[in-house]
Amino acid sequence: MPTYIKQFFTLVLIFISLNVYSQENDSIVIRNVYSEALTSFDSYYMLRDLCKNIGGRLTGSKNANDAVTFIESRLKEMKLDNVYLQEMKVRNWERGEKEVGYANTNKGRVNFNVCALGISVGTGDKGIEAKIVEVKSWDELRNLGKENVQGKIVFFSRAADQRGYTTGYGYGSSVDQRVRGAIEGARYGAVGVIVRSATVSYDNFPHTGVMRYNDSLTKIPAIAISTKDSDVLSSLLKENKDMTFYFRTTCHQDEDTESFNVIGELKGSEKPEEIIVVGGHVDSWDLGEGAHDDGTGIVQSIEVLRIFQTLGIKPRHTIRFVGFMDEEIDQKGGRKYAEIVKAKNEIHLAAIETDGGGFTPHGFSFEVSEEKLQQYKDLQKYFAPYWMHLFVKGGGGVDVSFLKETGTTLIGLITDSQRYFDYHHSANDVFENVNRRELQLGSASIAALVYLIDKYDIR
Ligand SMILES: [Zn+2]
Repeated sequence: MPTYIKQFFTLVLIFISLNVYSQENDSIVIRNVYSEALTSFDSYYMLRDLCKNIGGRLTGSKNANDAVTFIESRLKEMKLDNVYLQEMKVRNWERGEKEVGYANTNKGRVNFNVCALGISVGTGDKGIEAKIVEVKSWDELRNLGKENVQGKIVFFSRAADQRGYTTGYGYGSSVDQRVRGAIEGARYGAVGVIVRSATVSYDNFPHTGVMRYNDSLTKIPAIAISTKDSDVLSSLLKENKDMTFYFRTTCHQDEDTESFNVIGELKGSEKPEEIIVVGGHVDSWDLGEGAHDDGTGIVQSIEVLRIFQTLGIKPRHTIRFVGFMDEEIDQKGGRKYAEIVKAKNEIHLAAIETDGGGFTPHGFSFEVSEEKLQQYKDLQKYFAPYWMHLFVKGGGGVDVSFLKETGTTLIGLITDSQRYFDYHHSANDVFENVNRRELQLGSASIAALVYLIDKYDIR
C-alpha cells in the first residue's frame, strides 16, 4: 500500500477515535450533570422559599416584585458575571375580597366556591343576582339569542375533552370559554358569566386564568367554578328552571405599575456576545403558590447555571437566565425582553423555556425547520439513559415566543402532563405538590442540552 494511502487511513482512524472519545467524554459530562442535579437540594429549597416565604405572585403585586428581589439576591449570591433587571409597566389587577357565590333554589341556598377570572371587573359591593342560561358551545349561545340571554348570567359548562394523551389537549378544548366567555355573553346582553374551570381534572378547586374583554362591548364580571361544582350547578338547573345565582366579586384594576424581568449571566469564554437563554416566568396566579406554574421553571433555570459553576464547565457562549414577568396576563416581560434583544442586535443560539410544571421530563420541543430539527435529534442519543425520548417539533414557550422573528431556535422542556392540570391556576398549586426528583431531572436535562448546544455551537 502506498504511503499516502496509509497516511489517509491513519487520519481517518484518528478522526473516528477522536469522535468516539469526544462522544464518550460528552456522555461522562452529562452523567455528571445529572448526578449533580439529583444530589443537590438547592433548587428544591429555593422553590420552597419562593412558595412559602412569598407565595402567589400575581403580576403587578407586591409579591411579584418581592420575588424579583429574592431571585436577584440569589443570583448575586451565586457570584454570576452579570445580574440585572429589565423594567416595564404592567397591569395592576387585584382580586379583592374572597368571592361569594350561591344558587337560590326552591330548596334553599346552595353555596359554591367561586373565583374571579383574571382581569375581570368586579360586580360592585352588592353583587349581582340573575337567572342562569347554560350553554356548551358558542352556537348554542347564538341560537338562544338576545331574547333569552338579556339580563341573565351565562353558564359555560362545556367539559374539557379527556381523549388526548397530553392534558394540554383537554385544556385547549375548553379554555376558550374562560378567555372569550365575557365577550360573547356581553354580546347577547348577559350581566355576568360563570365558567367551568378549564382543566381535565375532576376536583373541587376553581381554576382561574386570564380572560379578555372587547372594548366595544359592556365589561361584565366573570367567575370560575370547579369541574365538580359545574356538574352540581348543571343538575340544580335541571330541577330548578327558575333559580337564580348570586355572586359578588370586588376585583378591580388600578393604574399600571412598575415591574421587572430578572436576569443573571455566566459569561462565555470564547463568544460572550452569543447567548443561550434558559428561563421561566416569575409571576403566577394568586390562588396558590405558583409552584408548578412556574416556580419550578424559575428554579430549574437557575439550577442550570449553578450546575455549570459547580462542575467547573466553562461555557463558550454566554448562558443567560431570564425570569420573565407577566406571562399570565399580558406577557409584558417576554415582549420587553425581545424588544431589547432586537434593539441591541443580540445573537441568541437558543432560548429554552420551562413552563410545563416540575414533572418528569420526557424531551424537548423545538420551534425550528425540519432540516434544523435533525441536528437536535442527533443529540437524543445522549439523553436515552435518562428516558428523554421526545425530540420533536413544537412550541418553545410563551415568553420566548417573542424572539421568533429574530430567528432564534425556541425550545420547550416537555414534561409528563398528566397531573399538571390538577394544580394549574388553582389553590392546589403549592410546593407540597412538587416532587423533588422530578424537578431535579428537569434541571439536569436542560443543563445537558445547554452543554451540547454550547459545545457544538448548534443554532
Ligand atoms: Zn406558566
